[in-house]
Amino acid sequence: MSAPTSLQRVMTAIELGEPDCVPVVPQITYTTSRLTGITFREAMCSPEKMAEALVAGYRAFGYDGIYVGWESSFDVVAEAMGCTLLVPEDGIPMVAEGVVSDSNDLGKIRVADPERDGRLPVHLRAVELVRKEAGGDVPVFRYVPGPFTLAGLLRGQQKFFLDLMRNPDLVRGILNPATESSRLFAVAAVEHGANIVVVADPLASTSVISPKMFDQFAFSCIREVVTAIAEAGGVPSLHICGLTTPILKKMVDTGTRIVELDYPVDLGFAKKEIGGSVCIEGNVNPIQTLLGGKPEDVEKEARECITKAGGGGGFILSSGCEVPLDAPLENVRAMVGAARKYGRR
Ligand SMILES: [Zn+2]
Repeated sequence: MSAPTSLQRVMTAIELGEPDCVPVVPQITYTTSRLTGITFREAMCSPEKMAEALVAGYRAFGYDGIYVGWESSFDVVAEAMGCTLLVPEDGIPMVAEGVVSDSNDLGKIRVADPERDGRLPVHLRAVELVRKEAGGDVPVFRYVPGPFTLAGLLRGQQKFFLDLMRNPDLVRGILNPATESSRLFAVAAVEHGANIVVVADPLASTSVISPKMFDQFAFSCIREVVTAIAEAGGVPSLHICGLTTPILKKMVDTGTRIVELDYPVDLGFAKKEIGGSVCIEGNVNPIQTLLGGKPEDVEKEARECITKAGGGGGFILSSGCEVPLDAPLENVRAMVGAARKYGRR
């Protein structure tokens, strides 16, 4: 019998089965620019250069899935909704300013059309190109913004956090078009060839807000996007950075099929809490280990992740969050190597 394809391996894990080997899918996007010798900026408007780098990463390291993105999806969608970005020469852009000054602006927020607005068509084209280049045996992952984080950018984060306590109606007013923009982009990502659509909502982390606020403001919006992904025929994944231990069950209740965990969450605990109902992905420390460590440090930590969460299947080895731009690429190779070495059934 021939070895399963990466797509089969990942799908087995999503269906909570145990594949021949623990699938490994590092969350690496712009860092692959180092392989094709381009700057971050050169590819941000070019789906061809973006796809070329992402596919080069896949070919160099042989992981089991390709994350298609280049910068934070919430920044790209915020830009498509009218926000201005600050773009460094070779670094990650940031939203310069929100578009909602007060409740009078609510009516002016435009829902982003993924086929027309900003650089959303660039990102959808990159999904198509990666899909075509990598072939049908490799799952394509695509990030879309979590509505809560996107709403925070549209308002400006400092004001947004004050609004959570002082002006919840304004928050809800911003969450509506944010959720709709995220939902439309997510459905378009499936239509353009993504197998797995990742809702990334870092501000919804319990490192940032309380579990109660998560319930009040973030949960139902995330569930709406997750549901739309599934209805479009994609596999929904939920990525919330930082600490999420207090909301693990809530994350599962959104209907997601994968829960992506960042390094502060203990994988052994998460496996016990939610491993029976959802595929878990994570969580090699992106800064301390992937950026600051050596290949042997990565191997050791990846092995621990597999030991804690790999047994019985339903697990994808990954970084806890995006692989940093200046992380040594040998560390990505070490993560893949660890899965092949220690992840065999
Ligand atoms: Zn993250």
